[in-house]
Amino acid sequence: MPKERLYLFDTTLRDGAQTNGVDFTLADKLAIAEMLDDLGIDYVEGGYPGANPTDTELFAKDHELDTTFTAFGMTRRPGRSASNDPGLAALLEAKADAICFVAKSWDYHVKVALETTNEENVASIRDSVRAAKAKGREVLLDCEHFFDGYKANPKYALACAKAAYEEGARWVVLCDTNGGTLPDEVEKIVGEVVKAIPGDHVGIHAHNDTEQAVANSLAAVRAGARQIQGTLNGLGERCGNANLVSIIPTLKLKPEFSDHFDIGVNEAALKKLAHVSHALDERLNRAPNRHAPYVGESAFATKAGIHASAIMKDPATYEHVAPETIGNRRKVLVSEQAGKSNVLAELERIGIKADKDDPRIGRLLEIVKEREAIGYAYEAADASFELLARRTLGKVPNYFDVTQFDVNVEQRNNAKGERVTVTLAVVKVKVGDDNMISAAEGNGPVNALDLALRKDLGKYQKYIAGLKLTDYRVRILNAGTEAVTRVLIESEDETGDRWTTIGVSANIIDASFQALMDSIVFKLVKSGAPA
Ligand SMILES: [Zn+2]
Repeated sequence: MPKERLYLFDTTLRDGAQTNGVDFTLADKLAIAEMLDDLGIDYVEGGYPGANPTDTELFAKDHELDTTFTAFGMTRRPGRSASNDPGLAALLEAKADAICFVAKSWDYHVKVALETTNEENVASIRDSVRAAKAKGREVLLDCEHFFDGYKANPKYALACAKAAYEEGARWVVLCDTNGGTLPDEVEKIVGEVVKAIPGDHVGIHAHNDTEQAVANSLAAVRAGARQIQGTLNGLGERCGNANLVSIIPTLKLKPEFSDHFDIGVNEAALKKLAHVSHALDERLNRAPNRHAPYVGESAFATKAGIHASAIMKDPATYEHVAPETIGNRRKVLVSEQAGKSNVLAELERIGIKADKDDPRIGRLLEIVKEREAIGYAYEAADASFELLARRTLGKVPNYFDVTQFDVNVEQRNNAKGERVTVTLAVVKVKVGDDNMISAAEGNGPVNALDLALRKDLGKYQKYIAGLKLTDYRVRILNAGTEAVTRVLIESEDETGDRWTTIGVSANIIDASFQALMDSIVFKLVKSGAPA
């Protein structure tokens, strides 16, 4: 039986831009649109031309994307004609393949927010759809507050949706704008709507205020809707929008959907999904959610020894899908409860050949346990574990020694009489027979130390040129009688690979220094730097 086509509509650049702390530049928007296009997303909503200079500029130029590039905006204002509304005119001029109008579909909002009559609102929908169709654009209508509106006045909510469909809108999108509707309600209401408007013209736009935006989107599909709107990583106002990064693999890998539907994302693109998700976080300068379904670092991580030994025999025992299908990987955590099987599985993954009867494996396990007892957490620091393992097995060269370092923090008045804090780090490094001294100023002691340490490593400098720190996390632990500091540092290199290193000490500078050193040495090992 031929499969039905399900369409994906991404609104990361429009609704996702409402996220607290997110502020896309034009370059960000272009890069993200390209990424979504590569992924095979059918519609990319770029923004709201006329609402801000970035979006106006974005829609001033032609684009070269395969996706249906979509501009968002309001239907004509009440009491004005379509030809006499500057907002609508700007939208019609935008260089976009499609226009997505937003309109009220809840009579309460029509009266209170829009201060107009129900009839005028429907007329505005009709006029706007007609004007955009006349301009040769594909048209979508986002029915704002549709579900709440439907519960209050089903006849009117449906009349708004039908008006757009009758005027030739390709899609009528039912929005759960407040995000409070539950899946069974969504399924029931969409089921009613598709009796009046064919499901292959109905879309769902869910917000995540009860953490069910993904479930609501899938419920709408079950009821007959054939377009899903969402964002990468569930970006969006308040609790976010439906997360396409979770929806896509569910549609591709779960037979309930994959047996019946085709989407624009193919198998090869699906393998890039974890990368796409992390690339967006990178652009937003935030650490990826480790526990994100499908793509998170912990999504296929197993801790207990008994699970690890089963996973080594057959991964399907503890995994709902194969991690490689979405570009993720299996991870067996080395932890307090680590058994030999965890250690062996992790070594195998890293690519270190080891015999299970090798006494050094037992020694490695002992060291891990000792260190975790004083605050190390190797399950969160894969690179530090790898180094520890390689060192225990005698496979890490002694590239360089830091013979001394000194960090000085000084607060004083500058020439303008302002109070400033200045940090200076000096590091003495011995590489082979060469002794080097580097100094650097930083915005804090760890930053200064990092800059000084990476400033001059002599013959090894070229191997660490692309290394940068992307995240720094500190936690104070109460281990035994004294508080100790645990530092986790996340690094990235020119290939986009990320790794995490750890340091533990009563002194935060010491702990940071250990984690920094591990990161640099890990990069040297990774780059195959000669001893
Ligand atoms: Zn929304």
